[in-house]
Amino acid sequence: MNKFDYMAKYGYEQLIYFYDKETGLKGITCIHDTTLGPALGGTRLWNYASEDEAVEDVLRLARGMTYKNAVAGLNLGGGKTVLIGDPDKVKSEAYWRAFGRYVQSLNGRYITAEDINTNTDDMDYIAMETSHITGLKKTSGDPSPFTALGVYWGMKASCFEMYGSNELKDKRVLVQGVGQVGYNLVKLLVQDGAKVFVSDIKQVKLDRVASELPVTIVPFGNIFKNSYDIFAPCALGAIINDETIPLFKFKIICGAANNVLKEERHGVALQNAGILYAPDYVVNAGGVINVFQEIIGYNSIEATRKVEKIYGKVLDIFKIAKEKQITPAQAANHLAEERIRVIRNIRSNYIKR
Ligand code: NAD
Repeated sequence: MNKFDYMAKYGYEQLIYFYDKETGLKGITCIHDTTLGPALGGTRLWNYASEDEAVEDVLRLARGMTYKNAVAGLNLGGGKTVLIGDPDKVKSEAYWRAFGRYVQSLNGRYITAEDINTNTDDMDYIAMETSHITGLKKTSGDPSPFTALGVYWGMKASCFEMYGSNELKDKRVLVQGVGQVGYNLVKLLVQDGAKVFVSDIKQVKLDRVASELPVTIVPFGNIFKNSYDIFAPCALGAIINDETIPLFKFKIICGAANNVLKEERHGVALQNAGILYAPDYVVNAGGVINVFQEIIGYNSIEATRKVEKIYGKVLDIFKIAKEKQITPAQAANHLAEERIRVIRNIRSNYIKR
């Protein structure tokens, strides 16, 4: 589809290309919707096969941030940046500072943070040139423990919905991907007495978690063989698809990975299979809730309290889904769109300045 037609169809505001000859910085920022506040979304550094692939990714990710921020109750719009390049080759102080100057030139319409292949060291360089940045070491730091905490509360809410009790004790939970979020999630599950099964493509990640915590390693390639109460995808998107759904022997799916439903219809397929799905962008909002706290004055206790509210949010979504006879994923989208619509409407009143 033509880019302007696509932007019109999904309500995008801005798509910005930038290039710095000296450092080879090459990127695209997308601002989807700023009704609720400045567009916040991380910067992803990826060796995209083509420019079209990068544009497609940034458009999809920026819109996803609008929905995530809206449902999380944050006064933030949705945006994202993708940088095109090899993460092992392009990084330097000048590269990040050149990027920081582009962020600054957007005058606060876009606020950046970490994403895939960008870390707190990179953010420190970017922050030398812009004030429109979050996720800094000196303030909120690594968002992963907060993301894991949100997934944990989403899981408890899902248990309440499915079993009438939010207890995780003795629940069999399969965690796919024990990286930054998965590892922290496993810690919380073990504390609650859940029986945790883990899978990862990297042996080093499995070794770390297995040496510290009582978990069972599930051989890679065979992860859907057994039945579990809960599946927590914490690795890849699109894991819920035509091939995997027939293999699922779970009651609940609740994890950190973004865009786990390959297509919207897979949410319907889960519902038909009697599997309760806690929408990904609702339960994985802990990280962005934590960085938002940085914008309004960082306080980790307050950030934790806000992340715990994901519990109530997930229950609200299940309630809306039942009332409207739609899937939880559709109910989450409905909640986001309603919040944006209502706030846009209250701002239409004239106030003399
Ligand atoms: P990470 O890279 O630290 O961890 C991902 C882990 O998944 C790695 O250990 C990797 O080896 C493993 N993995 C990759 N493919 C796999 C496969 N096929 N099977 C099993 N394991 C596999 O990433 P992370 O920061 O922990 O994020 C996990 C997911 O959550 C990502 O999809 C990310 O987009 C999403 N997310 C993360 C945050 C955050 O705060 N870090 C916030 C929101 C969403």
